[in-house]
Amino acid sequence: MKIKNHRLYQNNGSIVPLKKTTNQGSKLKAGKPEFIIIHYTAGPNAKSAINWLKNKDASASAHLVIDHDGSITQMVRFDTIGWHAGVSSWKALKGLNKYSIGIEIANWGHLMGQAGYWRSWTGAPLTDDRVITAAHRNQPATQRAWEIYDAAQIDATLDAVRALVAHYGIESNNLLGHDDISPTRKTDPGPAWDMDRFRAKVFGRRDDAATQEHFEVTAKRGLHLRTGPGIQYEKIHTLTNGTKVSVIESPSLWWLVAQIKDGEEDYTGWVHSRWLSRA
Ligand SMILES: [Zn+2]
Repeated sequence: MKIKNHRLYQNNGSIVPLKKTTNQGSKLKAGKPEFIIIHYTAGPNAKSAINWLKNKDASASAHLVIDHDGSITQMVRFDTIGWHAGVSSWKALKGLNKYSIGIEIANWGHLMGQAGYWRSWTGAPLTDDRVITAAHRNQPATQRAWEIYDAAQIDATLDAVRALVAHYGIESNNLLGHDDISPTRKTDPGPAWDMDRFRAKVFGRRDDAATQEHFEVTAKRGLHLRTGPGIQYEKIHTLTNGTKVSVIESPSLWWLVAQIKDGEEDYTGWVHSRWLSRA
């Protein structure tokens, strides 16, 4: 993904749709975002969140809303204040809306009930495979149930955050959860969102350490190794699912990798990083 004129574009070049809301302010303090704040919607899907965030009574909005299937909607331009953080602070800063982009991910958050009978706060049923039980780090003594995030949502958020980080130069310490900046009021994105892992996926590949790290191909039908960073480049070789690779360069979402065979580096070429996960 990439950003142009404070709008988000998909990898195929199509612009991410904008659903306008009047729930927004003037320009961000620096004219561009310095923080990214992750939220859950506490609702069933992106559609219901977008409808609510368009409603004046909500007095709330977000820059991006990400649905269960990974589809993305933009509601506020990235140079403009969205109303997602509310009363919040981080280090010396207060009121993070004027510094940040808010990303809302469709997710119920914490749940009620018990195994075999999980319910959202509205009473909507959830199957056991959609639920984890964990203590929130702001309330470590209390085990609660939480809706899991879908892989497609995590991938789409990752792509969007990488584009924002690359375009605006956002620092790794400034990728935060709502529960970081409003810890007494808020529990989103909560323990079902692995922020450390997510932050490492966004930023880790730029570190020297990342280049030493081994990744694994997670593509059922295999992954083409190409002569350059894009599908227009010639195929060199096909890496089967589970193949281990080391990362040589990661200048964009396309990475230059070397296949590891019998502990040695074998074929070298470019792959799209969405089909790799940390081994
Ligand atoms: Zn929130």
